[in-house]
Amino acid sequence: MAEERIVIVGAGLAGAGAAEELRNRGFEGEIRLIGAEPHAPYIRPPLSKGYLLGEEERASFDVHPLGWYAEHGIHFVPGVAATGIDREARLVQLAGGDAAGYDRLLLATGASPRPLPVPGGDLAGVQLLRTVEQSDALRATLDEGGRRVVVIGSGWIGMEAASAARTLGNEVTVLMRGGVPLASQLGAQLGADFARLHEENGVVLRPGAAVREVLGGAGRVSGVELDGGEVLPAEVVIAAVGAEPAVGLAASAGLATDDGVLIDERLRTSDERIWAAGDIAAATHPLLAAAGLPSRIRSEHWANAEKTGPAAARSMLGDETPYDEIPYFYTDQFDLGMEYTGFAHLAADAEVVIRGDRAAREFIAFWVRQGHVVAGMNINVWDVADQIAALVRAGIGGDTADLARLADPDSPLG
Ligand SMILES: Cc1cc2nc3c(=O)[nH]c(=O)nc-3n(C[C@H](O)[C@H](O)[C@H](O)COP(=O)(O)OP(=O)(O)OC[C@H]3O[C@@H](n4cnc5c(N)ncnc54)[C@H](O)[C@@H]3O)c2cc1C
Repeated sequence: MAEERIVIVGAGLAGAGAAEELRNRGFEGEIRLIGAEPHAPYIRPPLSKGYLLGEEERASFDVHPLGWYAEHGIHFVPGVAATGIDREARLVQLAGGDAAGYDRLLLATGASPRPLPVPGGDLAGVQLLRTVEQSDALRATLDEGGRRVVVIGSGWIGMEAASAARTLGNEVTVLMRGGVPLASQLGAQLGADFARLHEENGVVLRPGAAVREVLGGAGRVSGVELDGGEVLPAEVVIAAVGAEPAVGLAASAGLATDDGVLIDERLRTSDERIWAAGDIAAATHPLLAAAGLPSRIRSEHWANAEKTGPAAARSMLGDETPYDEIPYFYTDQFDLGMEYTGFAHLAADAEVVIRGDRAAREFIAFWVRQGHVVAGMNINVWDVADQIAALVRAGIGGDTADLARLADPDSPLG
């Protein structure tokens, strides 16, 4: 490649993985990795699990130790936010007044927790969970136990935080919009399995709860008032109402954005010199496009960041291979470990086929849409994610599933 300067904005898992892949593929030019956080890139899942519980060391989830970047000739700039992109001059403007020139640019700015849109939602005592500082602050309020904790939101982060808070000996209530946790992610039927898990562990679930106000002042919260006027006293309030992709930089530079930065099958944005990866990237999935299915997907999961960062790096170096990985993510809550493989947006109105022992929480659930497997979730059953991915790939490609075989634990999965 004649051009020698690659700038990466966003030093999370996707950005760091891209920088590493550029070097692995022999790119010898300048690499600048610009990160708003004052840390070396790190992996976030432990923030709501092992690290929050005090079981995992801080250093264990750095992508690489700080010194690794200089050793690999990567100019890592921590604690500095990019504030603008001048596409004509090919410059990224940085807070403080500096600028970084690029020939190719990768945006990997991730996502930010959605603010709680109610009075008191911005009180200093309302805890969010995205950064290591926020996980530290939350742990400091939870680890003595005995606190009344209200979790607002019953998505993945909310339910993981509830599990950690309860495991640390606190009284935990989860306020849910729907009837069960994770309803919009898994549907009512499988959300019920997570409801049972949490209730058996002593978490109080409040279905159909709408928050009117968070009560408190002077840096503290004292409770949460619901729409009907009921007040739930609390020393700790965790707001877990989703995340917004950090598309501001891309949008103000005039790149095509929607729910994320729009990218093609090679992770390129509407500007041929700019790529996007990780949580911000709304990709066109080639398998879905070929099958005539809704093909625009944005995945806010670890595996997507881990794989799209390097894939974007390869694409920047000229590799034309379309990115066609099957989405994957996982969660750990109490004694439940789960992996999900497939296309959640196609699973909404699909038929659910169960294989295994649901009561014992050892099973696989498949989502089958018009006869085709579009997703699968293994709960406390291991080493099957690759086989599920193969089933999903075949299903999207047109294979029809034999439902009786799928449901039969004695039939091979492949
Ligand atoms: C608490 C928690 C638990 C999670 N658990 C799981 C899990 O169990 N399983 C799973 O699959 N996924 C999980 N995830 C999701 C997973 O961590 C994300 O999908 C992943 O971190 C996305 O990586 P990324 O590199 O795209 O973005 P990020 O990790 O968000 O990194 C983006 C970086 O860019 C920086 N940045 C933003 N704007 C700018 C700017 N203008 N200039 C410079 N830098 C900027 C940000 O500060 C940040 O450091 C979890 C996430 C959280 C928060």
